[in-house]
Parts: sequence; C-alpha cells; structure tokens
Amino acid sequence: MSEQNEELTQEIVNEIFEQGKSEWDKRLKESGLTQSMFISTNHEGFPVEFLAHYQMAKDGAEAQGFTMPVLVEGVEVKLSDADNEDGINVESINHSDMVAQLAKPGQDIVDQLTAGDAHTLHMAVGISGESGELLDAVKKAVMYRKQIDMENIIEELGDLEFYMEGLRQGLGITREETIEANIEKLGKRYKGHNYSDQQAQDRADKA
Ligand SMILES: [Mg+2]
Repeated sequence: MSEQNEELTQEIVNEIFEQGKSEWDKRLKESGLTQSMFISTNHEGFPVEFLAHYQMAKDGAEAQGFTMPVLVEGVEVKLSDADNEDGINVESINHSDMVAQLAKPGQDIVDQLTAGDAHTLHMAVGISGESGELLDAVKKAVMYRKQIDMENIIEELGDLEFYMEGLRQGLGITREETIEANIEKLGKRYKGHNYSDQQAQDRADKA
C-alpha cells in the first residue's frame, strides 16, 4: 500500500482507500476493542503500523494531486524522522495539542468583534457571574445553616435583572417575548400545567 505507483489514478487511490478501510474495520472488529483502545494500546502491533503506512500512501497520492480520505476520523497521524528502523513515528494527537490546535485564536476573535458583540458578551458574562453570586448566597444559608441574607439575595437578583435587561436591549427583544416563549414551551411540556417526572423526562416540547 505504501509503494509509489507512477501510473496512479484516482480510481486506484479509491481502491487503496476501500481496501484499507475494509482491512481496518475487520481488524478492529476482531479485536473487540473500541477504536480509541485499539489505537492507544497498539493492539497486536497492527494499528500504529497500519496507520503509518496508510498515511504514507495518502501523502504520496496527494503529492500527485489525488485525494484520499482520512481513514480514521479524529486521529492525527504524524510521520517524522524517528529512531526506529522504519524511520517513522505515528502519534495519535494528544489532548493538549488538540486544544491548542482547535481553540479559535484570540486575535481572530478580537478582529471580528463588533461593538454589539462586545455588549452581548458583557451582558452574558454578567448573567453568569451574578448567577454564581446568587448561588453562593443560597449556599451559605443551606449548607452553612446561616440565616438567609435576604438583602444579598435581592441585590443579586437585581444584578441579574440588570444584565438580563441589557442583553435583551442589545439583541432587540423584550421581556414579554421571553415570558411568552417560556409559557408556550412549558405549556407543551406539561399538560394542564401540572408537573410530573414523566413529562419532565419526555420533554414533549423538544420532540
Ligand atoms: Mg452581584
């Protein structure tokens, strides 16, 4: 599979892929493992070697202008100079690399941000922060058995109202709209507006 073929055509590339896929699926099934276990344990030495050769074939085909699909989604195969005799290394992408690769660059976010976005984000962050403060006030009463601090509860609810109203204004929606939507949603979820665990689990409004 890794051999270069000067008379390569897209048809042959497709065949190589199909053969590779079917071999991979067969060996994976025989192993009885999940795909991630199959790869991470390098079951019977097959997966890593196979992925390396597949990647070499893919690179070779693509260098000649053909396309070859990824054999195993979610796994990055890196071929590099290595100490082993084949001169190849296969690395499944680790979580840290994946995060670094996937997280949208902060500069891109800044470049694309509008004043409206900044306001929306400010209000949404405010809602989340004040929710935490409210929860903390409740925690002190419930967990520490302190008398509930109503002044603080009112303060935090007021803070929440501030950010919710700011968010609505920024997005051009009204409080009435959100309340109507809530009534409609829960009217669908709970027949006659009566609670039951079954209806809570069924979530008829989402069906
Ligand atoms: Mg507050």
